[in-house]
Formats: sequence, C-alpha cells, structure tokens
Amino acid sequence: MLNAPVLQLVEEQELKSADELLARFGALDQPETYTPQECARIEALVAEIEELKEREDAIILAHNYQRPEIFEVADFIGDSLELAKKGRDVSQSTIVFCGVHFMAETAKILAPEKRVIIPDSNAGCSLAESADADELVARRDELREIYPDIKIVSYVNTTAEVKAVTDVCCTSSNALDIVEKIDSQNILFVPDENLASWVSKNTDKHIIAWNGNCYVHHQIRPEEIRRMRDARPNLKVVAHPECRDDVLQEADEVLSTSGMIRYAHESDSQEFLIVTECGLSDRLIMEVPEKTFYKACQLCKFMKMITLEGTRDALLTGRDEIELSIEICDAARGSLERMFELSWSSGPGPDSSTPR
Ligand code: SF4
Repeated sequence: MLNAPVLQLVEEQELKSADELLARFGALDQPETYTPQECARIEALVAEIEELKEREDAIILAHNYQRPEIFEVADFIGDSLELAKKGRDVSQSTIVFCGVHFMAETAKILAPEKRVIIPDSNAGCSLAESADADELVARRDELREIYPDIKIVSYVNTTAEVKAVTDVCCTSSNALDIVEKIDSQNILFVPDENLASWVSKNTDKHIIAWNGNCYVHHQIRPEEIRRMRDARPNLKVVAHPECRDDVLQEADEVLSTSGMIRYAHESDSQEFLIVTECGLSDRLIMEVPEKTFYKACQLCKFMKMITLEGTRDALLTGRDEIELSIEICDAARGSLERMFELSWSSGPGPDSSTPR
C-alpha cells in the first residue's frame, strides 16, 4: 500500500462493545490483561471520555507507544512532532496529549494559545531529562573555544528549556538531513548518544555527542535479535536509531516510528521484528493483521503511566495543564521552525531509504 497512514486519523465510529474490544485486543495475545471484565471497564471509560471530549472542546492525541486502550479514545495516533503539528492545526481549544511530558510541551510550544493537558504529569522521559539547558549552554561555550562555528542540534526528545537554547531541532527521521543542511561543520548533538553515533557514521560532519540515552532502547541487546533471526530466516529486522550501535548492526532497516509504520505497510515481506518500545508493535499487530510482527521490545514505564482513568480525570478537572513562559515558548518554537524550514528545503529525509 502506498502512502500508508503514519499519522493515523481514527475514523469516527460507533463505540465498540466489550465483546468487540475483546476480539480486537485478542490479536495482542495478552489474555491475562484483556479479560472480559477489563474490556467491559474499558467500554464504560471510553464512553465517558467521548462525552467529556465534546463538553470540553478537546482533541486527544496519542503517541505510538501508548497502551492499546488509549488508541480507542484517540483522534490521532502518531509520533510526537506529527501530533504536535496536528494539535496546532485542529479547531479544538483543548489538547489532551497521551504521551510523555516533553511531547505535551512541544504541542504547547506550537499552539501556545491552546490549553494543553497531560493525563499524568509524572510521565517523564529518561532521554529528555538527561539534558539540562544551563549545562548545555556551558558545554557549547566551552566547545566554541575550539570550534567557533559549533551549533546545537537537539532531538525533539528534549525539554522546552533545551529547545529554547537549540539552533535547530531534529527528529529521528530527519536527523541526518538536518545535520547535512545546517551551516556548520561542527555539531553538538543532544541528547541521544546512540542517534548521534548513527548520524556520525552517515555524515562527514564532526558530531560531538551528548551523554544521554533512552533507557528503553539502550537495554535491547544484539543477541536477542540474532536469536530471533536464526529461528526465522525470512524475518525483516527493523530497528529504531535510539538503539545501541551493536543492535543497529543487526538490522535490515534503521527507521523512526513513522518510518517503521510506512515500511510495515509497504514492504513485500511478511514477517518483521520490530525493535523499539512495545506499543508500536501492538499498533502494527492490530493495524496490519495480514502480516506477522514479533517484538524485540521493552515497555517504557513513562508511556505506560498514561491510563484511561487518568485521561478521564484530566478532562474532568483540567489538572496537569502545561504552563510555559512566553519567552521559552517563543525561543523553543524558533528551533522547531528552523527544522521545518531546513526539512522543506530538502525533500524527503533519509527515512525513506536507510538501507543497512
Ligand atoms: S521510550 Fe525512551 S525516549 Fe520514549 S518516552 Fe520512554 S524513555 Fe523517553
């Protein structure tokens, strides 16, 4: 299928009954989690949340790594930046971001006039928290003594404060493209050391990596991939660039979450090992039932803090609203807009073909 929906609009539809939910979640093969009683509970919560969305003029945006039941109340499912752009463009005045804190912040940065709430403000991110804005500025100033042209390129998995001192943001799908396009030979790449290493291997520019990583991707080991491949010779291994270099060496494709979804739809292969957070494999299992998806994944404890109860309570009370100063919002938006300008000037990013 061409033009596979990487940002998925969840069609308006009749709410599913508990039996329909049981059948849908049955594909995930988690019978202890999705019992008939649990599906009845989900059915009731989904109905309650749909009513509250109407009342509060709200849209629900859900990241690819969310729990399957969160997809039942989502208006859009996708990666953090696609969702933040969607939140900016829709007519609703309230955005409920079912994802982690930096993602909700990014939605607020792009739509400062809207109310943005997150169902659990404790849903952080080990990667975003590994970079502090003051430490970053100090490191950049130190490096500027040696490399006068140094620029900061930050992955979108950063706090608003870090984005505010960043020259250009990037995503996992356009990181290499942005590095190639930025007018500097020396780049301080923040915060993911694994993505920095992958970019460094594919560019002639000098990349200085920040010392951070995503604890979820960093735990995945190459032996797991080899074991799966030995048992299934036709397997296509698709890994996220936040994985360690020795894991990426085992992959057939290195792709962002959006790239993985597109690849899963379009590839002629029938069996895939999806090497990233487990939520994406669950999305693919339910969305592309004619193909087989194996998991070499880890759960992100932060992503799984978001629940249907929390989403309902956030809508009921408006708690955990994202608050950012105008100065931080404006400066952070500047680094995102410079990314949009550079991306638009260069066509499709490397995600469309990153053969290993
Ligand atoms: S999967 Fe990793 S990068 Fe994503 S939210 Fe969890 S800790 Fe952060």
